[in-house]
Amino acid sequence: LNNQMKLEFLSIPANISFARATVAAFASQLEFTLSDLEEVKVAVSEAVSNSIIHGYRNAPDRFIKIYAGLTENTLELSIEDDGRGIEDIDRALQPAFTTDPERLGLGFVFMQSFMENLQVDSLPGRGTMVRMSR
Ligand code: ATP
Ligand code: MG
Repeated sequence: LNNQMKLEFLSIPANISFARATVAAFASQLEFTLSDLEEVKVAVSEAVSNSIIHGYRNAPDRFIKIYAGLTENTLELSIEDDGRGIEDIDRALQPAFTTDPERLGLGFVFMQSFMENLQVDSLPGRGTMVRMSR
């Protein structure tokens, strides 16, 4: 099985559930269990929320892109914004690190524990791309 899809949508909170449901529907072409798919959904939600909240600082008129690919038994995902970017990626990945004292700083922890090969590319002022597979 080989399949790919690209999705582009506005940076509004309503699209978090759209993105996670769409990716899960696509990923269900592989033999994931429902609980696997729940975990994939959480990872997608966390990445998309980060783009909305941190990347675009809640501006509702920007775009987030998702690429998803399926090979024999692996789902590959990339979630991308062209927002403000991350200054120190290693620090951002640390559990409980957040630039927003109202938050817990656990988004990347969830992505890391529910997915494999989490890779973050980011340039301040240019944007962020989060890649992961499972
Ligand atoms: P939580 O996810 O628990 O609500 P959080 O979003 O702060 O809190 P993480 O998701 O782990 O925690 O992200 C850590 C930090 O990395 C964020 O506080 C933010 O500074 C930065 N960050 C993450 N994603 C992006 C992004 N797409 N653009 C800019 N900065 C980001
Ligand atoms: Mg987060």
